[in-house]
Amino acid sequence: MARDISAVCKQCRREGMKLFLKGDRCLSDKCSYDRRPYAPGQHGQRRVKFSEYSRHLREKQKARRIYGILEKQFSLYFKKADSSKGVTGDNLFEILERRLDNIVFRMGFANTRRSSRQLVSHNHILVNGQKVNRPSFLVKTGDVVTIRERSKKIVAIAEALEGKGRQGWDAWIEVDAPKMSGVLKEIPDFADMQIPIDPQLIVEFYSR
Ligand code: SF4
Repeated sequence: MARDISAVCKQCRREGMKLFLKGDRCLSDKCSYDRRPYAPGQHGQRRVKFSEYSRHLREKQKARRIYGILEKQFSLYFKKADSSKGVTGDNLFEILERRLDNIVFRMGFANTRRSSRQLVSHNHILVNGQKVNRPSFLVKTGDVVTIRERSKKIVAIAEALEGKGRQGWDAWIEVDAPKMSGVLKEIPDFADMQIPIDPQLIVEFYSR
C-alpha cells in the first residue's frame, strides 16, 4: 500500500499554515510551524507572489495532506465527486470524511489520521463486526466501528480516546468510550467539518 512518507511538519511549512498532523505536538511549543513559519529549504523565506494556478494547487495540496492521501487517489475521488449529484466540492469532502482512517481518527481511537491509518492497516479495527484493514474503506451512516477485542489493551488507543473525551466528539459521531466503539450517525455538512479549505479552489484546479 503506497503512502506519503514526506516529513509532516515540512508539509505545514510548505502550505503556510498549521495542518495539525502530529496530534498533541501541534498544540505545544514544539510545533515547527510556530517556530519557523516559512517554507522549508534555502529560499523558504523569500517573498513569493502566488499566481491563480498556484493558489488552486496549494488548496488541493492542503486537502490532500490533511487527509493523508496520495495524488492518484485524490484525483480519483475528485472524478467520483464530480460525477455524483450535488455540489462537487461538498461531494469530495463527504467522500474524504467517510474514509475509515478518518472515521477512526474522528472517533478518537488515534490522535492523528496517520496513526489511525496504521491502526486500520494493522487489523485493529472492525466495521459491523467484520475485520477491515483498508484505510480507504468508505463508512456508511449507521455503521459501527469498533476496536478489535484483543487490541483494546493497546495503551496508545486508550490514551488517544481519553484525550478525545476531554475535547469532545463531533456531533455526527457517537462513541461509547468504555466499549471502544462508535457509530457514524450522519454525514456532516462541509461547514461542520472545520477543514480550513475552500473546496471551490480545488474544483477550479481540476477544471483547468
Ligand atoms: Fe504542523 Fe506544527 Fe503539527 Fe508539525 S507540529 S504537523 S508543523 S501543526
